[in-house]
Amino acid sequence: MALERTFSIIKPDATRRNLTGAINAKFEEAGLRIVAQKRIHLTKAQAGVFYAVHAERPFYDELCDFMASAPIVCQVLEGENAITKNREVMGATNPADAAPGTIRAEFAQCVGENSVHGSDAPETAAEEIAYFFSGLELVG
Ligand code: UDP
Ligand code: MG
Repeated sequence: MALERTFSIIKPDATRRNLTGAINAKFEEAGLRIVAQKRIHLTKAQAGVFYAVHAERPFYDELCDFMASAPIVCQVLEGENAITKNREVMGATNPADAAPGTIRAEFAQCVGENSVHGSDAPETAAEEIAYFFSGLELVG
């Protein structure tokens, strides 16, 4: 077991519906510590850089519009195996496939507007944290 950090976003569909606290409770109940957090409003261009890995996918333009449609809460979560644990707490990308009790099962509206983002590997976690947070903001 290793103490890890992962990057998380509470997406516009969730901030619009006032679900930040309910989602944070899910992280904390799972033993994930919110060690950094800020609410920002992305431009479409910033969302496009963040999701550049999906640039060739048919949903990319709609995804960038959605991510820039309202504020997001970006976060660094810390805990034992935080990357995998967060993916478990989030549930499957499509809420129709998400296990009961997961964030996406309880809160997501559809495969696009699915309430949360979470890093999928150590390399992406490090890149995503560095895109949104400076070292000075990571106090543990
Ligand atoms: N997405 C979408 N349609 C799809 C697949 C993904 O709109 O068919 C969106 C959805 O918001 C998802 C994001 O693109 O969370 C990134 O997709 P990915 O496959 O990386 O899913 P995740 O890692 O978020 O579970
Ligand atoms: Mg992903």
